[in-house]
Order: sequence, then structure tokens, then C-alpha cells
Amino acid sequence: MIIPRAEHPISRTLISDNALKVLYRLRDAGFASLLVGGCVRDLMLGHEPKDFDVVTDARPEQIQEVFRNARLIGRRFRLAHVHFGREIIEVATFRGLPAASSDPEVHAVHGADGRAEPTARESRRAQQADYNIFGTQEEDALRRDFTVNALYYNIRDYAVMDYVGGANDLKEGVLRMIGNPHARYREDPVRMLRVVRFAAKLGFLIEPQTAAPIRELGHLLLDVSPARMFEEVIKLFHGGYSVETYELLRTHGLFRYLFPATEDSLATESDGFPRILLPKALASTDTRLDEGKPVNPAFLFAAFLWEPVRQRMDQLVDEGMKDQDALRHAADAVLRDQQRHISIPKRFSFPMREIWELQLRFPRRHGKGAERLLEHKRFRAAYDFLVLRAASGAADPELAEWWTRFQEIGPDQRKTMVRALTPATADRPKRRRRRRRTTDREPG
Ligand code: ATP
Ligand code: MG
Repeated sequence: MIIPRAEHPISRTLISDNALKVLYRLRDAGFASLLVGGCVRDLMLGHEPKDFDVVTDARPEQIQEVFRNARLIGRRFRLAHVHFGREIIEVATFRGLPAASSDPEVHAVHGADGRAEPTARESRRAQQADYNIFGTQEEDALRRDFTVNALYYNIRDYAVMDYVGGANDLKEGVLRMIGNPHARYREDPVRMLRVVRFAAKLGFLIEPQTAAPIRELGHLLLDVSPARMFEEVIKLFHGGYSVETYELLRTHGLFRYLFPATEDSLATESDGFPRILLPKALASTDTRLDEGKPVNPAFLFAAFLWEPVRQRMDQLVDEGMKDQDALRHAADAVLRDQQRHISIPKRFSFPMREIWELQLRFPRRHGKGAERLLEHKRFRAAYDFLVLRAASGAADPELAEWWTRFQEIGPDQRKTMVRALTPATADRPKRRRRRRRTTDREPG
């Protein structure tokens, strides 16, 4: 189906200048030249696209001839990145349908191995394999995931092209898998996470047949590489709709395959802390994104894994370990298990552990303790985490308030605040009491 310019809302003023340059240059070189995927979907809805993806019938080598600033990436399926300063326009050749055998993780080139530069030998091999990888525009549409993601905007006549009923589904607010949902999730289990992400972000309904196999096939996520899972998890929870996403993941039984220990702790916890702490952490992430503030995966993972770490730490403390050692051991154990599912790069797992470690230092405010903590480079994130814990009943609200005040005042007043601490409030009686209370209620 072709939707002419007059019957859809996409105007060129909403498309980035660099994307337009790429589209026109390809067209002028005689190639098919279209926008596709999320950007067309978002433009049709009147949203601002995150990035612009271009497809063409030009082969990767031909794309490179048209653009001096293009770099070919990907080993198996090669595509071009056209660089304009910080903006990258991705240009892909139409892809054909996979041969009889399935072609798993067809889009994994966007992730892990897509970053790598192919060697000369790999490029030769890729060129030889090209003839059965590339296809027509219609074939390209059929191997995309959801109908609303398979719309094309053609720069030749400014029309939108729809092979799979995506325009109608967009109008009705429906996410529908192209082809047989069961088979397409098997082909690439990450599509289960994608459908949830789009449902949360767009507020769309997952069409029943598209939703049905998810519960049964969720376990296939265990076979996805932890590196790709990390990228997907960031997209899930740093997209601005993490509260809705989290709820949908749990509704469809997928959350357990992302954070198994967290799922277990949600079932065993007795005071409702993680149930409240997690949504609060996610809500604050969404708010920050909405306000244009930066968000850090370290904080996200600190929130997701805190409850399993805390439970394990309590056990070790009961067995007689000092709390800082117990925390270190618990963090090691929980992180080791978690990395089998989602590989968290060191640059995030390290600050995540610091956020946890500082939680133990907040109650110790005597002498120079408080001043020193204030200067710690992870203070701000750790303080935000303390506030979250307090708001969800997992830490003493008076302690959080004390730290809030402590930051706002001058050095002289700080000294007065520290001096005003009685030995009883300066130590950690509240936490100790609370901890014993939680453990007491646990069976066994
Ligand atoms: P976003 O707004 O998050 O960028 P998007 O739809 O653009 O959403 P991308 O991951 O950028 O998602 O992928 C671009 C397009 O590539 C998708 O719209 C879809 O057509 C296709 N695609 C991406 N991943 C897959 C997949 N796993 N299986 C099939 N098609 C996919
Ligand atoms: Mg995109």
C-alpha cells in the first residue's frame, strides 16, 4: 500500500538535515533511498525520532562510493555508517528473507559484532555471501519485527510505503509481529524484549497472538549473549518509560530471565522494600530523563541488585561476618550470577558497588566521617540511593534528612551538626534493629 504525501503527517522539516543529505545523495546516484523503522514510526506518530535509519538497493561498496564519510561495519551483514560529526546515519542494503534454515539474531550486527571493523578476508567472504543476504524492498519489510516498524518513507515521492499493514496498526495502537510470532521469537528471542519496550514507550497494545507465545518462550532469553542483553536492558530502562516497561516485563514473565535473583527476592522479601524501592528508582530515572538530566547504569543496577545483595549480606552478618566484608562477599556472589545473564561492564559495576558500600558509611557520621563522605566522588549517587531506601521504608528517614541538611549548610554549621550527634544516633542502632527484624521473619 502506498500512502501519498497528502495523506500522512511526515514533513521533511522533521527529518534531520544529515539524514536528508544521505537520502538525496543516494537518490541522485540512481539508487532507491528510503527511511525505515523506528524513525518512520515515530514521525507518523508526531514524535521526534531518536535516530534515522536509511535503506537502499545500493550494495555496501556502492554506498561507500557515494559517501566519503561512510564506514562499513558488521561481519555477516554489512552496513554503512555515514558520519557527520557526532551524528551517524545508518545506511543498510535491503535484506532478503533468511534461507530455509533460520538466521538467528539477524540484527545482532547492530550490537556486539557490529562495532568491529571487518578484516579484508571477512569482507571478501561477506561479499561472496551477499547474493543470498540482500533482497527486494518487500523482502526487507517481511523480515523486520513488528508491522509498525516496517514502514518506509520514500524520498523520491515523499510517500509512505506499507507492505504489512503497519499504517493501520499504528492508527489502532497495536504491536503485531510480522509472520508467525512463535517462529519469529525463536529466530531472535530479543524480539520479546523489543515488543515490551515498544508497548511501554508507545502505550500500544500487544496484539493477542503476538503476546501469546512470550510466556512459553521467555526462557530463550537465557541463550542470548550477555553483551547483547546488556544493550537491550539499557534500552529497556533508559528509554524514559522504565516503570511501564518493568511492569510489562513482570506481567509477561520476562523479568525473571533478566534478573533472576531480584525476582526471587521479590518473592521472599517480607517488608515490601524491593517492591517499592525498584519502581521508585525507575520513576526517578524516568523523571531525570524527562528533565534532560543524565542517568547512569550504575545506579540502575545498584537498584535492581540491592535486595538480593542485602539479603545475602544479612545472612553473612548473622554468621558473624563484619558488615563491610559481608557486603563485599554478597556483592561478589550476586554479581557473579548476574553476569551470566547480563554482562555489566566494569565501568558500571565498580561505581555500583561504591553506591552500596557508601550505604554502610552513611550512619557513621562522627569525627571527620561525614565530611569525608561528602567529598567522595560517588556521594551524590549514593545519597540519592539512600533517599530512595528511606522513602521505601528500608532506611531511617531521619538519617536521610540529616544528610540532606548536611549538604545544604556551611562548614561551620556542619561541625555543629556532627557535634550534636549523640553517640546513640551516631552509631547504627536503627539499621541493626531493622535488620534483625527482617531476618527474624524469614523461615528457618
Ligand atoms: P528505537 O526507537 O528504539 O530506535 P527502532 O524501531 O528504530 O526503535 P532499532 O533497534 O533502531 O529499533 O531497529 C531499527 C529497525 O530495524 C526496526 O524498526 C525494525 O524494523 C528492525 N529491527 C531491529 N531489530 C530487529 C529484530 N531483532 N528483528 C527484526 N527486525 C528488527
Ligand atoms: Mg532506531
